[in-house]
Amino acid sequence: MKIFLAGGAGYIGTHTAVELLNNGYEVVIVDDYANSCPEAVARVEELTGKKVALYEADVQDEQAMERIMRAEKPDTVIHFAGLKAVGESVQQPLRYYRNNINTTLSLLEAMEAVGVDKFIFSSSATVYGAQNPSPYKEDMPKGLCTNPYGWTKSMMEQILADAVVAYPRLGVVLLRYFNPIGAHESGRIGEDPQGIPNNLMPYVSQVAIGQRQELTIFGNDYDTPDGTCLRDYIHVVDLAEGHLKAVEFSENHQGIDVFNLGTGKPYSVLDIVNTFQEVNQVPVKYTIGPRRAGDLPICYADASKAKAVLGWEAKKTLADMCRDSWNWQKHNPKGYRK
Ligand code: NAD
Ligand code: UDP
Repeated sequence: MKIFLAGGAGYIGTHTAVELLNNGYEVVIVDDYANSCPEAVARVEELTGKKVALYEADVQDEQAMERIMRAEKPDTVIHFAGLKAVGESVQQPLRYYRNNINTTLSLLEAMEAVGVDKFIFSSSATVYGAQNPSPYKEDMPKGLCTNPYGWTKSMMEQILADAVVAYPRLGVVLLRYFNPIGAHESGRIGEDPQGIPNNLMPYVSQVAIGQRQELTIFGNDYDTPDGTCLRDYIHVVDLAEGHLKAVEFSENHQGIDVFNLGTGKPYSVLDIVNTFQEVNQVPVKYTIGPRRAGDLPICYADASKAKAVLGWEAKKTLADMCRDSWNWQKHNPKGYRK
């Protein structure tokens, strides 16, 4: 079977490509390198000893997607190609809506034209919004998002729900990711943020290696055990295995189904900092700052549906996540740039 990874040169796409290739799938990657580089795909090939069919293209370009799908004849499309920086989405909402929604539309149109009918979508826990209490369950109504990035995910879920009604052959799996961190245990692929990281783990790693002075913890006055926010951090390799299970599930699937991909275990910002220091024996200097606008105090999954239906559950521990993040950072202090 052949899997088409739109945005597959990125953080989650490369880890998923490794799992797919190691399990006998063929992989096509289409990326415009807006937030990645060809070196990441070269490393996927190096790790697996397998070739990837690699195309540089903007996924918004429907004709290019149709051409590639006609040439490659994939069985399933996984759509990772999105802009994902929450703060940037507030500054540049139109760019976010255009890119994220157009990529989804052009993939669906190309699939319809070529006759590809399995679609797996990278969604996010952010669609649950502030109104729902954690742990989040898939059957909760979606909530109000706090930023344009979140709204693009929520809108794309709606577009996909409408598409399955109109195109009965179509099967859609929505994967709502929680907080992916960590890296492949080889240290050859990992998260490579451009500029100042927005997310906690890359920031912690860059402080540990001396590229940034100190971490600011955004608030310690939340109603949580240590006052800092709780999140459901999930190892990116566990997440990648979740995609493998979703691909297997989608083979005989029509309609639309949604799965949380999280561990179901909440950890605080201080848990991350303390575990990172302990496991890696490196100091992480931090200070307590004000709350960050839009942060929810608590966000974690009820992960039971993915276990029951997909036969998937996260296996790796917080210590594994911290060890593998540091291993990647240590061996690639400048990311994929040598
Ligand atoms: P990433 O930025 O590393 O990967 C996304 C890839 O898509 C990049 O390689 C980028 O170059 C590519 N891309 C973006 N727009 C494109 C376009 N128009 N044409 C071609 N390629 C394009 O991000 P990631 O962390 O791997 O995330 C993958 C997906 O998962 C995204 O849709 C993201 O919104 C979603 N997601 C990520 C997280 C997270 O915390 N990392 C959480 C929830 C959901
Ligand atoms: N966080 C922090 N300092 C940082 C980055 C993040 O204290 O420099 C906190 C943030 O407030 C949140 C948690 O770490 O409670 C996870 O944030 P991240 O941006 O990684 O993911 P989010 O859950 O916001 O998508």
